[in-house]
Amino acid sequence: QLHNQVQELKGNIRVFCRVRPLLGEEVTQAGGQIPHLQVTDERSLEIGKAAGAGANETMSGRRREEGDGKVNFAFDRVFPPETSQADVFEEISQLIQSALDGYNVCVFAYGQTGSGKTHTMEGGRDDELQGVIPRAVSQIFDACAALKEKGWSYTLEASFLEIYNETIRDLLSTSKEKMNYEIRMKDSKLNSKTKEVYVTNLKVVTVTEQADVASLLERARQQRAVAATNCNEHSSRSHSVFTLRMEGRNALTTETCHGSLNLVDLAGSERLKESGSQGDRLTETKNINKSLANLGNVIMALGNKQDHVPFRNSKLTHLLQHSLGGNSKTLMFVNVSPREDCAAETLNSLRFAAKVN
Ligand code: ADP
Ligand code: MG
Repeated sequence: QLHNQVQELKGNIRVFCRVRPLLGEEVTQAGGQIPHLQVTDERSLEIGKAAGAGANETMSGRRREEGDGKVNFAFDRVFPPETSQADVFEEISQLIQSALDGYNVCVFAYGQTGSGKTHTMEGGRDDELQGVIPRAVSQIFDACAALKEKGWSYTLEASFLEIYNETIRDLLSTSKEKMNYEIRMKDSKLNSKTKEVYVTNLKVVTVTEQADVASLLERARQQRAVAATNCNEHSSRSHSVFTLRMEGRNALTTETCHGSLNLVDLAGSERLKESGSQGDRLTETKNINKSLANLGNVIMALGNKQDHVPFRNSKLTHLLQHSLGGNSKTLMFVNVSPREDCAAETLNSLRFAAKVN
């Protein structure tokens, strides 16, 4: 209930913060404790200033500075380290459902490399470790089956792409040919008055059952592994965008409805130093910094109802322009690590998230 009130007050953008647990060696190293980072209640957390906060911070937004060297942040929801994948999903299942009601839904995972973005979005192969993508798809299939009784039938189309260095790559393509992927506009099939964004040559797969999607995710995993000599580094420098488009027709009432779900695992938000790099690496670094900053600017411009929203300043926001403005709902996870040596990056991530919230 509370969340819906917050949502109404703030428009269609929500921010959830998730702190991952200490893992493996980290547990012994830290003595099992994370003293610098405390989840104070369901909606706030506190980070020790000594852990990386600047001394001359200004007060702004929903951030409150206190004299005792702590910085407090408030979000729509804060998930402590022990929160399960199922518990996280429960909080967003309403949002996922609204895609079937005709909304364009975007869920982003923002945070430094190693903070739990991919765990949150894709998760592990075991049932209880499944992340947002498989759970969302499974919920959509169940909901479609239930809506059948009321006369609705849905077509579900999936695509999965990656934006690396401002270049789009198809994660579902099996062809070895080099394709040109451009972002274009076309008339919507259901309503000629509205335009929709599409990507030239991108593989769009009609899915009819849960297993289809599982095999698509597997294909995407393989594609990424093949493309990169160092898979982790590659994924930390690229955005991946899973899209499920839904078109519903009601045979009884002749109503139609279309919505979409865009689930985005963003490039690592760690500050990349432009000074140390050169050539291609420098361009790449600048592109990542620019596209994440631009995403923040777009979300803020939409939140402030500004006339000009800089969608076209990066491929990611250009691609998602219809899913961010207008008839849309956006959720951003800010994923943070409990490691004390990550505190400065954690603080940066929290500040970014507080700014868009
Ligand atoms: P990112 O995608 O942000 O770089 P990952 O999702 O790959 O980070 O997470 C880094 C490591 O931490 C992975 O081994 C992942 O399985 C693990 N991990 C992340 N979040 C959790 C969590 N909530 N519970 C258990 N393990 C997690
Ligand atoms: Mg990742």
